[in-house]
Amino acid sequence: MSTPENIFPVFDQILQREDKEKMLQQHAKVIWMTGLSGSGKTTIAKQLEHILHHKGFLTKLLDGDNIRSGINNNLTFSAEDRAENIRRISEVSKLFLNCGVICINCFVSPTNDIRHKIIEIVGEENVLMVFVNTPLEVCEARDVKGLYAKARKGEIPNFTGISAPFDVPDMPYIEVKTEGLTVEESAQQILDKVLPHLNVEDSKEEE
Ligand code: ADP
Repeated sequence: MSTPENIFPVFDQILQREDKEKMLQQHAKVIWMTGLSGSGKTTIAKQLEHILHHKGFLTKLLDGDNIRSGINNNLTFSAEDRAENIRRISEVSKLFLNCGVICINCFVSPTNDIRHKIIEIVGEENVLMVFVNTPLEVCEARDVKGLYAKARKGEIPNFTGISAPFDVPDMPYIEVKTEGLTVEESAQQILDKVLPHLNVEDSKEEE
């Protein structure tokens, strides 16, 4: 592709992802937690982030509500804006990735269309998809934010699990079935699966 007029890329002078990863002694990945609202994505991600932090990994947790109150505060829940929400989150994740940072992303991301869009932007080799599999009845009984009650009353249209679909991922994924597990056990199960992808060498595994 030719370079547009008045644009002077300097990619060859900018430190590369490999340089950052070498400094941080880690492989950057996007650990993408998909699951119903209240399935435990954020709770488990926080625990996972603490463990990784104490092992010496540099991480960034991105969470739906935080993102929607900041960079995406102009977006609604229309189909178009949901797609834009995911596109921006994926692009932001790529910036962290290129800085060598491990992202832990907590977004319902309910359909395979959405997940494939994420993979298209972030790159298949960079995404570790984690399905936080908690039965709808359990999520609804928890109703952490009172959203299920509102959705049942018809106050929230297109609510995942109630009036909008949630697909089982059709790409490779790590699954954690949280029912009957503690948060710590759930985080540990994910950790065991992701750690080999993050470690440059075994040095951080021993801590
Ligand atoms: P999400 O981010 O998927 O919407 P949250 O993490 O905000 O879900 O809420 C999950 C709720 O379920 C929290 O209140 C958490 O304390 C509770 N919970 C109970 N058991 C578990 C478990 N095993 N794993 C994760 N969360 C659990």
